[in-house]
Amino acid sequence: MQKKELLYEGKAKKVYRTDNPDLLWVEYKDDATAFNGAKKGTIVGKGVLNNLISAHFFQLLAEKGVPNHFVELVNEREQVVKSLDIIQVEVIVRNLAAGSMAKRLGLEEGMDLGGPVVDYCYKSDELGDPLINDDHIRALKLAAPEQVKTIREMALKVNDILTSYLADKNIILVDYKLEFGFHKGEILLGDEISPDTCRFWDSKTREKLDKDRFRRDLGNVEEAYKEIYRRLTGREVQI
Ligand code: UDP
Repeated sequence: MQKKELLYEGKAKKVYRTDNPDLLWVEYKDDATAFNGAKKGTIVGKGVLNNLISAHFFQLLAEKGVPNHFVELVNEREQVVKSLDIIQVEVIVRNLAAGSMAKRLGLEEGMDLGGPVVDYCYKSDELGDPLINDDHIRALKLAAPEQVKTIREMALKVNDILTSYLADKNIILVDYKLEFGFHKGEILLGDEISPDTCRFWDSKTREKLDKDRFRRDLGNVEEAYKEIYRRLTGREVQI
């Protein structure tokens, strides 16, 4: 496998072409942004930790029958994935009220939602990723109704797998964002699953172990990402 030219640079990752047209080479960066790019910073070692954490979750999900884009780790900061034609919808799954949902509906953060709540957002930086529903997805031709059904079922299966897996590691999966795409006609889970895209709380203390520490200037950001890696793998990573 050869790393070829840079195709795309996003807020947290760089994506390169490879010598195989079906595969991409992803490099995770230490750059951190929040509030649609309004807040910028660096989380030292984030690229390494998110690359390893995301690979860990995708391997677990593949073993449990959730088809996804992950192929292999190439080093601490880079992984190879299947190239996807991304569906322009962010799928958010929530178990406890937090973040934008708590704010929008006037709920206390941490309120149990009594079962998963799935939100869809239109992936558009210019519009600030607005909340949409199944009908908007159809009307905007982002995906067909049966595809939305598949995506929702996959997102809920991910929720079952990850909530119980993380509970064993004393982590509450509060909410998270997933992205899906097409690869050779099949819908695969893509993007990343990491403390950048999930809210993780310690089960006992409810301490935040995710990007909210950066968004809300809570300090100990790097330590939180390292703690998630440690709880998932039982290993330390030298940054
Ligand atoms: N999220 C994300 N990317 C986004 C928006 C949200 O990864 O562009 C994740 C976020 O980390 C959280 C979940 O999706 O785990 C729900 O986020 P929310 O809608 O509450 O938005 P936020 O409060 O992060 O603005």
